[in-house]
Amino acid sequence: VGQYLARIETYQHLNAFVEVYAEEARQRALEVDARLARHEAGRLAGLVLGIKDVLCLSGHGVQAGSKILNGYRSPFTATAVQRLLDEDAIIIGRQNCDEFAMGSSNESSYFGPVRNTADPERVPGGSSGGSAVAVQAGMCHASLGSDTGGSVRQPAAFCGVVGLKPSYGRISRWGLLAYASSFDCIGPITKSVEDAALLLEVMAGPDEFDSTVSGREVPRYSQKLAWEGQARIGYLRESVESEAVAPAIRQRTQAVLDELREQGHSVEPVDMTLLKYCLPTYYILTTAEASSNLSRFDGVRYGYRSEQVVDLESLYKQSRTEGFGAEVRRRILLGTFVLSANYYDAYYTRAQRVRKLIRQETERLLSQYDFLISSVTPTTSFRLGEKMEDSLQMYLADIFTVQANVAGVPAISIPNGLDEDGLPIGLQIMSRAFSEENLLAFSAHLS
Ligand code: GLN
Repeated sequence: VGQYLARIETYQHLNAFVEVYAEEARQRALEVDARLARHEAGRLAGLVLGIKDVLCLSGHGVQAGSKILNGYRSPFTATAVQRLLDEDAIIIGRQNCDEFAMGSSNESSYFGPVRNTADPERVPGGSSGGSAVAVQAGMCHASLGSDTGGSVRQPAAFCGVVGLKPSYGRISRWGLLAYASSFDCIGPITKSVEDAALLLEVMAGPDEFDSTVSGREVPRYSQKLAWEGQARIGYLRESVESEAVAPAIRQRTQAVLDELREQGHSVEPVDMTLLKYCLPTYYILTTAEASSNLSRFDGVRYGYRSEQVVDLESLYKQSRTEGFGAEVRRRILLGTFVLSANYYDAYYTRAQRVRKLIRQETERLLSQYDFLISSVTPTTSFRLGEKMEDSLQMYLADIFTVQANVAGVPAISIPNGLDEDGLPIGLQIMSRAFSEENLLAFSAHLS
């Protein structure tokens, strides 16, 4: 704990943490030490963890990188976090992120941007940017992020660490501040696939507080990391051949595919015919869900309340106008629009239908192949401010990651070398729903 606290101090300028629980972490480390001495410690004894500022920890602040939750303290702990605590993990602080997990660069936080350790003039990716940078710079052993459309995998790729988005319904969302409930997944960000497996097995499984969690048995992922035999691998042709993807990324992905071929795996190109509909479908449905989820922040029940208030309506209006940042307001407006009576069928209903088609196509591909491999992102980390004025450019950062969330299947980003500027590149592997056991074993084999 002492070492991690020192590194947090050294790397303060990266702005990865919103709040550090120094004294509490030290105290807890002593308690865990005592349990270790008595041979009573849990499986994660001494594992120092940071949590994204969207996960509730009883008695602590949580505000999704937003002014609107200023001063709010959670009265309970997220199930996933509680399960890690029950195994004696130590929480060292809460980590900076894009406001309400909306973003791909971690520049939309009320607490200011997070910077990439590899080059502090560049972004760490988002929205779990603080969580990825904290692991990258060794400010904690592992982090918990959340992934609605790529927010664990994309920053993991930009920072050269491992990011896992499990199947939808593998980990309880209880205590995760909601962005888009039918997409949101909690996921670990780690230095190794082994750590990701261990954290997943502790967090996963049914929870009386979240009815969308699967009752399927949770394998001991960390004990099953040996990969044997041949895999049928499909690779997303676009991510290796398209001019829109940076040459260094294409080369690195291609190099992995060549190596897999040499090892005797079958490797074939796949054309995802619905790829171009993934982002539009994602943005229609997630903004719709966000507009509904964020309606609870009204200036009355939680956090921030405007001073400029004359009546009830102005209380709502002013508190929300002052409390939410530009990107969140944009998405609430968009979501309200696609759900409005006159446009509901044209946008929301249609997007639901397309979601089903994307899910079916993904499932069909994953019945032909054990894994779908692609680049995680079309570019490596970009400069701070570079895409802030152009939302569509920013949204394109998730072109390869949103499919897994639209379809609900698991996907992982593992480090795959550096580009010519020394910036990290990631490799994405996707597999059938609830086949994390295979996904993790194969990823361990590759990394
Ligand atoms: N960048 C995507 C968005 O802005 C993904 C965010 C996420 O996964 N939380 O919606």
